Amino acid sequence: MTDSSSALVQERAAVADACRRLGAAGLLIGTAGNVSVRVGDRVAVTATGAVLAQLTAGQVTVVDLDGETVAGTLQPTSELDLHLGVYRRYGAGAVVHTHAPMATALSCVLGELPCIHYQLLALGGTVRVAPYATFGTPDLAESVLAALDGRSAALMANHGSVTVGPTLDKAVENALLLEWACGVYQHAAALGKPRVLDERQQLAVIEAAIARNYGTTQPLQEGKA
Ligand SMILES: [Zn+2]
Repeated sequence: MTDSSSALVQERAAVADACRRLGAAGLLIGTAGNVSVRVGDRVAVTATGAVLAQLTAGQVTVVDLDGETVAGTLQPTSELDLHLGVYRRYGAGAVVHTHAPMATALSCVLGELPCIHYQLLALGGTVRVAPYATFGTPDLAESVLAALDGRSAALMANHGSVTVGPTLDKAVENALLLEWACGVYQHAAALGKPRVLDERQQLAVIEAAIARNYGTTQPLQEGKA
């Protein structure tokens, strides 16, 4: 099948845009990393060997949820099992994997990134570090899938990070947020032992965010400027 509906023309362009955005933010190193977005049972995913920061729509391959190529001319990423696993297990809309410098540095040392800032609650709180396994293996995919349970982000030991989201934009924003938080942790840890938000503090943030619809713009109320 290569008709336009299954070829995900717009989504392939969106994946290329997302990669260039991640590159401009400094999260990409050469050909490392991979990005995908799902539409129904179709997945537009970056090709293996492509320089991600300069990706074009032609370097995005479309596969089904079994990994069979549906459209495109290039072999998909070596981490395809990981991407497909996220879609099958969690029903996510998009996946971003990078070797971003701050996240990768922490992945070499920490057992988890503790909840040192309330914005980490947008990713589910404490970010787990998935145990190391060779890239592109089912073992790595399974390790990362387990670390993602109930979370939108995971670090991959001595490797990098993965974020997911309901949309491609959200998965990219989660990657940027995680990299920022990893940078904050490193700066804080250089000064001393970072304080961690306890459960009561985290719960209060969640309650306040729900009450105030945090993270969205809101119209002024009548009579207020
Ligand atoms: Zn990788």
